[in-house]
Amino acid sequence: MLPTLGSSMASIAPTPTSSYRGRIAPSPTGYLHVGHARTFWTAWQRARDAGGALILRMEDLDPDRSKAIYAEAAYDDLRWLGIRWQEGPDKAGPCAPYVQSRRRSVYLAAWRALLRRGFLYPCHCSRKDLEAALSAPHERVTAQGAGGKLDMEDDEPIYPGTCRRNPAPPRQLPGPTAEPEMPEGSNWRFRVPDGEAIEFIDRNLGPQRYVAGRDFGDFVVWRRDGVPSYQLACVADDAAMGITEVVRGADLLKSTARQILLNRALGYADPAWFHCRLVVDHNGRRLAKRHDSLSLRSLRQRGLTPMNILSADLPVEE
Ligand SMILES: [Zn+2]
Repeated sequence: MLPTLGSSMASIAPTPTSSYRGRIAPSPTGYLHVGHARTFWTAWQRARDAGGALILRMEDLDPDRSKAIYAEAAYDDLRWLGIRWQEGPDKAGPCAPYVQSRRRSVYLAAWRALLRRGFLYPCHCSRKDLEAALSAPHERVTAQGAGGKLDMEDDEPIYPGTCRRNPAPPRQLPGPTAEPEMPEGSNWRFRVPDGEAIEFIDRNLGPQRYVAGRDFGDFVVWRRDGVPSYQLACVADDAAMGITEVVRGADLLKSTARQILLNRALGYADPAWFHCRLVVDHNGRRLAKRHDSLSLRSLRQRGLTPMNILSADLPVEE
């Protein structure tokens, strides 16, 4: 869906008059590009049209790739586009902090709840183990591991289930002296219900259906390096922040199926889903792949306006 442009571009964010709560969630691992601009614009437009609130959440969980310079650039680029938000790291609000690297206790609580309910098991497979277990040529383990969002193609290979029978660590008796259970030391995977169809109605793309165990396998919710996965952090934050509609790119459709399972396991209500079609160039190639030439930074420097960027009036690749 292409955004429609109007005189509202420069307007300030009004006070919410409805219970709609949307969010935009940039990752400060690079400059925002055209695809982000369209998706975030749509999210803003939908929140505004609903008379609701838009929350900006900085998804900076990747300690190696997240940089302060990209976070600052994201605020600046979003404002330049005309997007306004009511809550965020720069504005505070009732659900602060709005920066994921400062919300670890929220994710730990979700991890513990999943563990206690029997949904998780520790996975000791190395990347080499996984590569050896996966033979199909299109299946590959990405450099970012099984984080989900970091792998924008969402081609996380189906986990072969090697560690499914690993015993969970012994349950500690609750008590004032008991150490809290901690996930450190191994990957933790969510056991998906093999064969169950996960269905949802996307408000933009219509009915969606993914089969657990076939379209996606047991996925990581906490990484060996101590970082919660995108899937876990996203559902924990969306629930804690009262998000009623998630607007994001269609590359995350399969992640939505995973997140529906997490919501169910955690007793969270599903938000509504609105996935935006991915922006492709004249050759059908995803624009996200041309990150440098189509960053908002570089397009601004070349004199393009927000209207050019949001209406697909882009320079043709040489
Ligand atoms: Zn394993």
